[in-house]
Amino acid sequence: MTLRLYDTATRSVRPLEPLRPGHVGVYVCGPTVQAGPHVGHLRSAVALDVLHRWLRESGLEVTFVRNVTDVDDKIIHDAAHADEPWWALATRNTRAFERAYDTVQCLPPTAEPRVTGQLGEIVTLVEELVRRGSAYESGGDVYLSVRSVPSYGALSGQSPDALRASDKTVAHGLSGSKRDPLDFALWKAAKPGEPRWPSPWGPGRPGWHIECSAMAVAHLGEEFDLHAGGLDLVFPHHENEVAQSTAAGHRFARHWLHHGLVTAAGGEKMSKSLGNDVSAQAALAGHPPQVVRYALGAAHYRSSSEWSEQVAAEAGAAYGRIENFVRRAGAAVGDAPVDTGLSKASWDEFAAALDDDLGVPQALAVVHAGVRAGNALLSAGELPALAATLAAVRRMLRVLALDPVDQWPAAGGGELTGVVDALVALAVEARAEARARKDWARADALRDRLSASGIALEDTVDGVQWRLS
Ligand SMILES: [Zn+2]
Repeated sequence: MTLRLYDTATRSVRPLEPLRPGHVGVYVCGPTVQAGPHVGHLRSAVALDVLHRWLRESGLEVTFVRNVTDVDDKIIHDAAHADEPWWALATRNTRAFERAYDTVQCLPPTAEPRVTGQLGEIVTLVEELVRRGSAYESGGDVYLSVRSVPSYGALSGQSPDALRASDKTVAHGLSGSKRDPLDFALWKAAKPGEPRWPSPWGPGRPGWHIECSAMAVAHLGEEFDLHAGGLDLVFPHHENEVAQSTAAGHRFARHWLHHGLVTAAGGEKMSKSLGNDVSAQAALAGHPPQVVRYALGAAHYRSSSEWSEQVAAEAGAAYGRIENFVRRAGAAVGDAPVDTGLSKASWDEFAAALDDDLGVPQALAVVHAGVRAGNALLSAGELPALAATLAAVRRMLRVLALDPVDQWPAAGGGELTGVVDALVALAVEARAEARARKDWARADALRDRLSASGIALEDTVDGVQWRLS
């Protein structure tokens, strides 16, 4: 294991050392599905998909857990305004997220737990915290007593006293009263008309933070390798997860990874209130999904990533250079044997870039250097070296889910029609030659082979036509 990742908790790049050799458990804070995905969600998914793929490429078995928050204040509020059941709104948006993740070729998670499916574990965890004296009930709500957790603030690098001064954690809409403004709700008593589940403190639903502590432990155990999410989640969400979990006696995450957010043109903050947010649907309607993936995945995961028409156009041009090379070189080398020894150096450089805190910009630079070298080999007709370069470039592209052949075959087969046309024409020509020399067996064999491939020939007045049978 040579992968080194920045760890928010220690503020250093350090080796990821799996608890169990050969296996990595990853927990990712997934979306709250009160609306469909925006480009920020896609960026998060793509950045963590590169992590997922690189762990697998490194020979590790990965358990990748990403939750769905399918009930919360905003979902209940928006559904009430839309006169729609909250669960219908949540289901519709969950499906929109799944489609968007699939469209940009993110590997599916090993598990995708939802709050509504995890109530038993959540209530058990809250009960444990009450039993240990780290949480208390008030008016049907249950709160975590933040002052009972001595390490509170360590992950985000803030002291509880400074937080108290800024009073950031005061929540609205709760039934009970907190003993301390820093305390946060683990369980919220149901108000009239709200969804509710039974609990020892009366009917209600979980607060946001507790779900991730319960789901991570349910799927990965009380101590696990890596917890990931957006930088905007460090505080309070992840700080609160650590507080609850350590108060319950769990060692919890060994490594914390946070990715940057998406900005609008020129690095301007992107938000609904500024009116410059872009839905995943809009981004994908305007650009091919592989270009959206390239654009959102090209920056280092810890940097912010800009989404603008200019960035998308640049990504389209860069991806076009890659695709053009892969297709032309593929046609030139066919299935000639590949001597991977000829391209080992570039693969090693690529692997070193990703092992160094997932250095995607450096890894992409290696890919583009390979494309440039490959184009020169193509012009010079140096096929063995070209075959090795192409194989290395495609192996790198597969890790980034950008391979134009395996991962992004031409949409709808439109681009392949011309290729099939040319291949069928060759077969038809050979069949005509066989018939001309009265080699009926050969002519029939050619027709049968095409037929077995799903291509039917028809003799028409315009000559032989083909169609898919
Ligand atoms: Zn979470």
